[in-house]
Amino acid sequence: MTNIAVLGSTGSIGQSTLEVVRQFPDKFRVTALSTNSNVDSIVSQANEFFPRVVCIGDTKFIGKVKGLPRNTKLLFGNHGLDELVEERSIDKIILSISGSAALLPLLKAVKLGKTIALANKEALVMAGHLVMKEAKKTKANIFPVDSEQSAIWQCLKGEDPAKLKQVYLTASGGPFLKASSLKIKNATLKQVLRHPRWKMGKKITVDSATLINKGLELLEAMFLFNLSSSQIKILIHPQALVHSMVEFVDGVVMAQISATDMRIPIQYALSYPERLESLFPSADFYKLKQLDFDKPDFNKFPALTLAYRAANELGTMPCVLNAANEVCVEEFLKGKIEFISIARIIAKVLDKHKNSADFNLEDVWQADAWARNQARSFIERGKA
Ligand code: MG
Repeated sequence: MTNIAVLGSTGSIGQSTLEVVRQFPDKFRVTALSTNSNVDSIVSQANEFFPRVVCIGDTKFIGKVKGLPRNTKLLFGNHGLDELVEERSIDKIILSISGSAALLPLLKAVKLGKTIALANKEALVMAGHLVMKEAKKTKANIFPVDSEQSAIWQCLKGEDPAKLKQVYLTASGGPFLKASSLKIKNATLKQVLRHPRWKMGKKITVDSATLINKGLELLEAMFLFNLSSSQIKILIHPQALVHSMVEFVDGVVMAQISATDMRIPIQYALSYPERLESLFPSADFYKLKQLDFDKPDFNKFPALTLAYRAANELGTMPCVLNAANEVCVEEFLKGKIEFISIARIIAKVLDKHKNSADFNLEDVWQADAWARNQARSFIERGKA
């Protein structure tokens, strides 16, 4: 029996994780759950799974949570999340908190040498170098949940990483793959949120429309698998069945193919190194007939160029890219800026940033705060 903690259990990945758990009640036990503010939803999850601990991030709910099981301990805020991660009964932490809020719990879990199934990419983008260095020291395991990273991980299983030549990181292309530049310029919130392949949270859906999601994954893959940016090629693949590919020095390419269903990589991260028989759909090649691949259009999706820029420069640049993007996505979702302004504002913030190659965690938080302020001031000044 594996005792799991699901951090961010009320979000899209968190809910899918619980669906996997429901299929294997004799394999996985939920021992901790957390949410930022989705109180009703976490109370109902707690009454189904009876975890030892529940944590609610937003402290304004202190004293307002009702109906938790009698033996479930209730914690609040960053401090509570810290305490939750320390819980000794946890065998595996599923980190599916969205955005930069995942960095603190990730660092804590890594420091304690825990096994982490990582669904969040922003934390690695911000401080991947520091996280991986610490993980090496404490022997913490970080198993990827993101479908592309899971694919690379599976293709590399049992292989000598030194014999890896390059990675093809696949991208479905999002809702604007075939759209004209004019259509992208006039993109509405509704069009942006209508992803053709994946049903996901709002932040990642916007990121998939700008394609910066693929840029964040480029950085994520660099840190997870110790690769340079020149070893990773982004490849448009609209069917989203090949979840990524790796090419070895002898020209052999291995691809990981499965149905477009996040429960599959989630289950693998939970059951690794075992494979469990599941009821999830499988890829149907008779129906499918063909798989398409294409080069991404960097002119139509300038956020990709920005991500490669951050990936080439490294230092605190990836953190700045991520922070500026988070602010822009929030403002776009509120209707404050246009879709095409997202990449424009990020570019301005990157231009202004004085990068430091040698950095610590303090510098990461400073760069994060600086980039957020810069992005906000560009938006306020209407320079988008
Ligand atoms: Mg992905």
